[in-house]
Amino acid sequence: MIADNLKYVTQRVAMCCEKTGRRPEDVRLVCVTKTASVEQIREAVAAGARIIGENRVQDALAKHRLIGDAVVWHLIGHLQTNKARDAVRIFSLIHTVDSIRLARAIDREAAALGKIQDVLVQVNISGEDTKFGIAPECLDGLLGEMGELSHIRVGGLMTIAPLVDDPEKVRLVFRALRKLLDASNGPRSAAFAMRELSMGMTDDFEVAVEEGSTLVRAGRAIFGGAQEAKA
Ligand SMILES: *Cc1c(COP(=O)(O)O)cnc(C)c1O
Repeated sequence: MIADNLKYVTQRVAMCCEKTGRRPEDVRLVCVTKTASVEQIREAVAAGARIIGENRVQDALAKHRLIGDAVVWHLIGHLQTNKARDAVRIFSLIHTVDSIRLARAIDREAAALGKIQDVLVQVNISGEDTKFGIAPECLDGLLGEMGELSHIRVGGLMTIAPLVDDPEKVRLVFRALRKLLDASNGPRSAAFAMRELSMGMTDDFEVAVEEGSTLVRAGRAIFGGAQEAKA
């Protein structure tokens, strides 16, 4: 069933790419495993999952210990500065940097490990105050400050769309993130080009792909919970 779900999501992504003239290989699937057991993760990996997304450093450490580096680990949940060391140790991409304080903590730990840490900046497009993420108007300042850190590399932007009944309602959120990415790349050198747009979850990934997502974060679509919702 996990294999079928993976295939379904991959096919849907490919269809949305075709519809909008994008290349399917430019969209990577992050399998969000926050509710999945180690067994389920292994099943997903056997079926072709390559990127595992976890929300909490503590959970990821436990799963990473059992599954290891045969897959790539992404942090998609909020990171506290006191967990930066563990995060830098196991995650190849941290999607959720939203302050210079956190960026500096990651940079410091990455330097200690002799690693350049790839990160995305989380932007709170919709302005919901329950969400983490930096306000769009503060992005430029943060990117400027992060540009001075030598062990961090900003690859793009991430957002979480509001929960709505109709995914069309969040199209403008995704489009706004894409515009921010383009605008942020504009005034900077080619060396700073950001490419990644982490956007789209189980309920809205198709719209997100149509709007330019390069990293789709799907949990329920793969591990269950979505079929019932769709029916
Ligand atoms: C849980 C989670 C997801 C996956 O959500 P689904 O609706 O299960 O696909 C994606 N991104 C973040 C940040 C999450 O916390």
